[in-house]
Amino acid sequence: MKDFKNNPYFELFSKQKENQFAVGNSTCKQRIQKLNALKKAVEITYKERIREALYTDFKKPYTETDLTEIYPVVSEIKFAKSHLKSWMKRQKVETPMAFIGSSSWYMYEPKGVCLIISPWNFPLNLTFGPLVSAIAAGNTVIIKPSEMTPNISKVMANIVTDLFSEEEIALVEGEVEVSQELLKLPFNHIFFTGSPQVGKIVMQAASKHLTSVTLELGGKSPTIIDETANLKKAAKKITWGKFLNSGQTCIAPDYILIKDTIKDAFITELKKQLQHFYTENPAASNSLCRVVNKKHFQRLVNHLEDATSKNATIEIGGKTASEDNFITPTVISNLPEEASLLQEEIFGPILPIKTYKNLEEAIAYINAGEKPLALYVYSKSKKNTNYILKNTRAGSSAINNNVVQYSNHYLPFGGSNNSGIGKAHGVFGFQEFSNMRSVMKQHTIGSIEFLFPPYNNFKQKLVN
Ligand code: NAD
Repeated sequence: MKDFKNNPYFELFSKQKENQFAVGNSTCKQRIQKLNALKKAVEITYKERIREALYTDFKKPYTETDLTEIYPVVSEIKFAKSHLKSWMKRQKVETPMAFIGSSSWYMYEPKGVCLIISPWNFPLNLTFGPLVSAIAAGNTVIIKPSEMTPNISKVMANIVTDLFSEEEIALVEGEVEVSQELLKLPFNHIFFTGSPQVGKIVMQAASKHLTSVTLELGGKSPTIIDETANLKKAAKKITWGKFLNSGQTCIAPDYILIKDTIKDAFITELKKQLQHFYTENPAASNSLCRVVNKKHFQRLVNHLEDATSKNATIEIGGKTASEDNFITPTVISNLPEEASLLQEEIFGPILPIKTYKNLEEAIAYINAGEKPLALYVYSKSKKNTNYILKNTRAGSSAINNNVVQYSNHYLPFGGSNNSGIGKAHGVFGFQEFSNMRSVMKQHTIGSIEFLFPPYNNFKQKLVN
């Protein structure tokens, strides 16, 4: 531990390390009390401050805050509360006859001192969501939220200080350097949500101490629409899933892959939906947040300029307002393969549409890229749907819908390889913050004599 003496967070880390058994040995009832306190803070005491902070950070509409920030945390807490007793129970398993006189079980023990690093796009949900799992599993936690949404970070810091001692849970605000210092410490687990690029930095830092990691990352999530799909319903769901949070959603459809013969009809449906949701003048709509900051706004403007310079067709939208970091919901087609919109994760309100002639072509296109975090299929054909599911790989999927798979706590949530390692939500989140400890107990009778030397012909025969 001498190596860390100069680390600004070493003292905090050490306090939590010292306290980890007190926290880890908490009963189910005590953990539920902590979850209840967090629930009350998010749902009642701090609700208005949360709404105001997110509005200040990127003009997030209050209704969207309730739906995508407060509700998911509250429902994660409710779910954990109602299942925690069974999750914490030791799990009895069989013992082979050869070990007669023994019984076996495994139990979930807390990992210890954990680090949660979270992104800015759903800052409350993606910070307190994993925190619920960490508390349920009995850990101490240091949290580092994103520096890009400072107002909500401040509110979360106040909630944490209000409810917990820093020996148990602490939130550290600040720039990237704060994460970099924290990552030097020998945490027992790191739960990181963010980009694949930074995910690699986190994993590299974790490898120094063989710290286990959960990496909830991103990437390009494709949406396939085949010729049997109900285009009106698909357009409605995709408009919601894509332009919610102004496209700054890790599991938003990144781009559409559509059967060439139905492209125009689908764009017509999208136009109708967009008008219905956000009116003729989306800038005045109270249902669209802004791009989080100038840097990301400029990144998206660059995508648009790159697309137009390559003669792509702006089918809908394409207007930008730099004073407000606002981009109207935009749909673009006829993009050449080298267009940046088809190469990088978009993470903004721009939806490219790419056509395919047959499903094999669409699947080959997806499989040539990294494994996506989510893959969506709009189809009435069971055969096509199964064919797509069997021949692609992804962290999660929804069929004839998008984004909603995130909200089912009975499902694991996470990516695969480039889109992530490990799973969150419900029991999967609890397991991620726990070590499955195996135990075999020898009772008074029985003993495996053939294990012991001196070896002889009789023992040799027994093991063959
Ligand atoms: P990011 O990777 O830039 O930052 C995430 C966190 O890492 C922030 O707290 C930031 O302070 C920290 N960080 C940034 N650079 C760092 C460095 N060099 N060293 C240490 N820490 C560093 O991601 P973001 O811009 O906040 O979020 C967008 C990305 O996150 C997208 O790729 C998106 O798909 C992904 N994401 C994934 C999920 C998921 O659940 N899988 C959810 C939301 C966002």
